[in-house]
Parts: sequence; C-alpha cells; structure tokens
Amino acid sequence: MAAGSLPAPSARQWFRRRLLAWYRANGRDLPWRRTDDPYHILVSEIMLQQTQVDRVLPKYHEWLRKYPSLEALAAADEGDVSQTWRPLGYNIRPRRLQSIARESVVRYGGALPSDQETLLSFKGIGAYTAGAIRSFAFGQRAAILDTNVARVLYRLFVGRGDAKSHAMKKHLWTVSEVLVPHKHVFDFNQALMDFGATVCAARQPKCDACPMTRRCKSFTRMKAARTP
Ligand code: SF4
Repeated sequence: MAAGSLPAPSARQWFRRRLLAWYRANGRDLPWRRTDDPYHILVSEIMLQQTQVDRVLPKYHEWLRKYPSLEALAAADEGDVSQTWRPLGYNIRPRRLQSIARESVVRYGGALPSDQETLLSFKGIGAYTAGAIRSFAFGQRAAILDTNVARVLYRLFVGRGDAKSHAMKKHLWTVSEVLVPHKHVFDFNQALMDFGATVCAARQPKCDACPMTRRCKSFTRMKAARTP
C-alpha cells in the first residue's frame, strides 16, 4: 500500500496551532531550549541520541563547563574526553563529537556550518541531527524525524500501513517537511519531540488528554484497543 497523501493545508495549519498552544502550556523547560548556540545544540543532540533526558541533563552541564566551545573540545585530550562522557554509553559519540569539533576548527574557522550538505558530511550527523541543528541553532525552516516524531506523524496523519517500511519513512519525512511552519520553527520542532515523549508516547499514549483526537487517524483504533 502506498504510504499515503499529505495533510491538506488546512490540516497543517490546524495541527501547527494546536501543537504550539499545547507546547506553550506543557513544554518541558530544558537548558538546550534556552540557547541557540550551535555548539550547545550539537552537544545536546548527540547526547540525546539513545539516551533519556534525565541522564543527559547533568552531563550536558558538566560537558559545557569542561569544554565550553568547539575550540576547547578540539584541543582536549582524547582520553579525557572519553572519560568525561561516562556513563552515558554508546562511546563512539564523544569521539565523533570531538572529530566534528576538530573539523569545524580546521575547515570552518571554529564555527559549525549551517547548511544541510556540509552538516551531513560530518560523521555522527545524520538527517535528523542536521535538521535539529538547522532549526534550533540557525532558525532555518528544517524538518526533523526521529523515532518519536515518526510515531506521532504516522499515528496522526497516516494511521495504517507498515509504519517501519522505507517508503513510510520517506513519506513521514515529507509530512514533517510540509508541516514545519515559516515562523516559530524552534518551538514547533521542540514541541513535536515533547508531544511524542509525553502524550503520544510509544506505550500507553494519553489519547484521552490529547488535543489532536478530532483529526487523529489512529484515535479510534487506539481507543478500541484499550476498551476491555
Ligand atoms: Fe497520539 Fe492518541 Fe493523540 Fe492520536 S489521539 S495523536 S494516537 S495521543
């Protein structure tokens, strides 16, 4: 089955408004939401890959105290960098982070580039992280799609078909792209992630408290599944 059609312009607008209103009332206050420093955003995004927010928070502060800039991280001792990362796990990440810092210093004057192609050329930066850096640090109208966001968009705008297929993933990227507003990109993408983490969660989504039920393509199915 084809992955599906894109939400109509009126549905996009409706979703943006509802999501932003929900976020303003319920969004979590996280330190990387109070900055648009590209390096700080990069550190938070790499730390948040595969790791829960609660575990990232203390390490994020420690890391930035120790390595306050791309230059400082580039110049740091590799063993020290690996040690500082512990116990976050997936230990390839600090090495990649340092290699991004070194490349940024050598090739880009100590600044993180802002364009998609160059960001994707760094090892450790995939399409999701590039979108996150572009939208959070540079205010660009860039889409994101990680597991959380894919689940939200699938449930809301698709509702059937193989959620894990390559074609679906491609479709969901396009859905995410057409949904990103021209204004408030930072808040919109943060809201998408928060909504997936706290309302439209993988297990036991809070459909009864969800502001999207009216247009959600999975609401009826979710409700039926919960009815004894
Ligand atoms: Fe997710 Fe349920 Fe809300 Fe649909 S109604 S978006 S499945 S929480």
